[in-house]
Amino acid sequence: MHSNLDKSVQSTRRPQAQAFDPRAVRAQFPILQTRVFGKPLVYLDNGATTQKPSAVIDAERQYYESTNANIHRGVYQLSQAATRAYDAARTRVASFINAADLREVIFTRGTTESINLVSHSYARAFLDEGDEIIISALEHHSNIVPWQIACQMTGAVLRVIPMNDHGELDLDQYAKLLNPRTRLVAVTHLSNSLGTIVDAKKVIAMAHDAGAKVLIDGAQWVAHLPTDVQDLDADFYVFSGHKIFGPTGIGVFYGKLDLLEKMPPYQSGGDMIESVTFERTTYAGLPNKFEAGTPNIAGAVGLGAAIEWLSQYDLHAVARHEHDLLEYATAKLQPLPGLKIIGVAKNKGSLISFIVKGLSSLDIGTRLDADGIAVRTGHHCCQPVMDRFGIPSTTRASFALYNTRDDVDALVESLKRITSTARPQPLAASQSGKLAFPEPVASSPDEAAQLLEENFELLGDWESRYSYILDLGAKLLPLPDEYRTEENRVKGCQSIVYLTTRKRPGTRDGVDFLADSDADLVRGLIAILQHLFAGQTAKQILAFDIAGFFRKIELDKNLAMTRRNGLAGMVERIRNFATQLPAGSSQSHG
Ligand code: PMP
Repeated sequence: MHSNLDKSVQSTRRPQAQAFDPRAVRAQFPILQTRVFGKPLVYLDNGATTQKPSAVIDAERQYYESTNANIHRGVYQLSQAATRAYDAARTRVASFINAADLREVIFTRGTTESINLVSHSYARAFLDEGDEIIISALEHHSNIVPWQIACQMTGAVLRVIPMNDHGELDLDQYAKLLNPRTRLVAVTHLSNSLGTIVDAKKVIAMAHDAGAKVLIDGAQWVAHLPTDVQDLDADFYVFSGHKIFGPTGIGVFYGKLDLLEKMPPYQSGGDMIESVTFERTTYAGLPNKFEAGTPNIAGAVGLGAAIEWLSQYDLHAVARHEHDLLEYATAKLQPLPGLKIIGVAKNKGSLISFIVKGLSSLDIGTRLDADGIAVRTGHHCCQPVMDRFGIPSTTRASFALYNTRDDVDALVESLKRITSTARPQPLAASQSGKLAFPEPVASSPDEAAQLLEENFELLGDWESRYSYILDLGAKLLPLPDEYRTEENRVKGCQSIVYLTTRKRPGTRDGVDFLADSDADLVRGLIAILQHLFAGQTAKQILAFDIAGFFRKIELDKNLAMTRRNGLAGMVERIRNFATQLPAGSSQSHG
């Protein structure tokens, strides 16, 4: 049985490579032919997720149309066909990463679940109080938080490999951190926030010399450069299907067979057992031991199709093309006024993070979007990286094999227009001074809302609404410096937001507030909130349906109503303050 599995891994290796032409690749992605605000979509957020070729979309559709049944259960033809399709996907993955044995490939929901699987299972099996886990300063939150929890569970201690100003890991410091108590090292192969390529082979060899095991987070690597877990000698290797042209909700956890044999199950239930009585359960062999419940069968089929699709190209040629994009984009972006690239490692993958003096990344992202250009803005789930560079966020353009120099040109042209409007950050330029609060504009939030609704209706499309919001923000009353305190900081937003409240003098429950942000868009949203709520009573504010209002003016279509753009965080602050005032029906202003 085992040797059969091994053979099938070998048999699908080294597919025929085709000549690589990004334009021909691009034509296979239906979404890349679509338009945003009437402009051709320029998709530069491949670090967040990649688009899907027709081959993958068709494979999932075909699976559901012709093969769908639950696996490992039915004696009937359909169930056996579904099982074969699922197994074939495992074979594809094993071959793609050069796993020695099919049983080393476990399907999960994605990178995050794969890391959680290791952190829970490995911690239960191998970690004791005083043991040490090493991660790096580059890690995504999903390769930090699970280890913090593992440490809380076991009394182990977390250590962090520092990085230099270029965003490269300091391997001398790493050597010093390694010691006989080090049990596990978990590092990224390619940083999603800075693009740094980590010398995983070296990191692994050094850990092995110290007797520690290593997990490599390959989320950003696998779609761009060839992966060989045996050559790396990785103990664990993890990645997500959706970042390698496959579906969401499917990912891979690779682990060396001998370790997987020793590790306890992560989740438990159906399909991971050998036998169950109420007294005792014995577990199934690998890989089933780690695949409790009905897995994402169609997702695995889609991932298999994505890997088959990608494998028709020579990944070295892909890497050369993407490196060309990186160099071309770096050379074109660097001269833009006020632009600074964050992360300039010598060995870098095809992504560029940058900041622009006088412009928040939220504004940059929103303005690029108006030109049909999709980039990621924010902390990229790497808050410690942002802290290391003393910035709240970056704008990140991340490339994939279907991107071209035309995409870079579109980005640069749009950025040229955007940077020409950069102004000194209101936050930095603000003067301390007298606190002046805005006056109410109507007798109730509902009445104030009506005025705004009428204006928004007249404006029509998002572009005019967006510039109207920016105009509103430009007229904000200043928030003096002494109110820009940690306590007044609205956390969890992409931009810097401060908000201060007070009870309106002479009223029982009137609410006054002032706020400011480094993002023009957020300043506009503050102006809207002030228009609605300034000087109104706590009772009226609490009764007002803010989500309904944003739906009415159709902002919800273009702005996520989440904490990320600061809106939800600010509303929460104002509402919290309102609940602390004595509820009453006193006049809105005194
Ligand atoms: N690690 C890295 C380096 C990533 O870039 C990401 C996704 N941005 C993750 C882990 C988490 O991946 P997922 O959300 O697919 O689980």
